[in-house]
Amino acid sequence: MATDEFELIRSYFSDLGSDRTGSVRLAVGDDCAVIAPPAKRDLVVSIDTMVEGVHFLPGTSGDKVASRLLGAALSDLAAMAATPAFFTLALTLPDTDPVWLRAFSTRLGELARLYGVQLVGGDTTRGPLTLSIQVHGWTPANKALLRSGARPGDRVFVTGTLGDSKGGLETLLQNIHGEQVPYLQHRFYCPEPRISTALLIAEFATAAIDISDGLLADLNHILVASRVGVMLNPAELPISHELHHWVGEQQARQWALSGGEDFELCFTVPALLEPKLAWALRDHSVAVTCIGQISAAPGILLAEDGQVWPVMPQGYNHFPAKGIDE
Ligand code: ADP
Ligand code: MG
Repeated sequence: MATDEFELIRSYFSDLGSDRTGSVRLAVGDDCAVIAPPAKRDLVVSIDTMVEGVHFLPGTSGDKVASRLLGAALSDLAAMAATPAFFTLALTLPDTDPVWLRAFSTRLGELARLYGVQLVGGDTTRGPLTLSIQVHGWTPANKALLRSGARPGDRVFVTGTLGDSKGGLETLLQNIHGEQVPYLQHRFYCPEPRISTALLIAEFATAAIDISDGLLADLNHILVASRVGVMLNPAELPISHELHHWVGEQQARQWALSGGEDFELCFTVPALLEPKLAWALRDHSVAVTCIGQISAAPGILLAEDGQVWPVMPQGYNHFPAKGIDE
């Protein structure tokens, strides 16, 4: 490895974050990291890649790229109810821009500390700007929350609000300015992995997924894996005031159902356990909203005002002419 690469790793990536689970024996600097797995834990692993011009607009600052990259990666651990422990970083850089790199590594370090996860190694190469983060977390043995456990009668919940990230992206693409723009763009650039919520619901949930491709598309993965269907109440979809104010109810609902990149959790809980779930979440700062119920019959149905209609996982194409905002 060239000296400047070594210098780059030393100054930007040698000491980021911290492993709250205490399993890292050796981090960046040797040929490999060394991890001591805690007793009776399963290792849960996921990798996410972002390419400039594909996953973020060319010219995006390092801090924004860092928060989106790590947020999206940790969100997958949340979806499995895993406690984050450590991560690796593969960086392909067109050049070494110190301003970009400092912003990237500072933000990455802040978030890594916040979520208790430590950077233990990586790889650095030259080429078109591409970044991959592989996250590793622990669950108690056999307790990872899968997509396959939803049962008829289970209630369907989501965290936070939906559609904001799509709204934020649209404000960027359309170069919109206005009161709601900073909030929406923050939601796009800084997804909050719902780790703390996931750990609270793990005891009650039968299935979970994080929403990266849109609620309908991701919930459908639960439905297929669990061999069930769902009846959703579009009127219950949690939508932020900011998004509602900017685009109105119908567009906001559309983006909430199929917008994507919200990195909120969608999970199912047996109806009988709902009171216990509510009690467990009583002091929790993240909103958790019931949006529907799992059914035995496959497919996705929307229900409002006594009307019921089917919808495809991709989105709204199958709505009747009489729209849902009536
Ligand atoms: P090798 O040539 O043995 O694969 P490298 O020269 O690629 O090792 O990396 C040297 C050390 O720096 C290793 O510990 C590696 O994990 C770490 N490293 C390289 N790039 C990064 C990066 N982008 N972030 C964190 N650690 C890195
Ligand atoms: Mg290497």
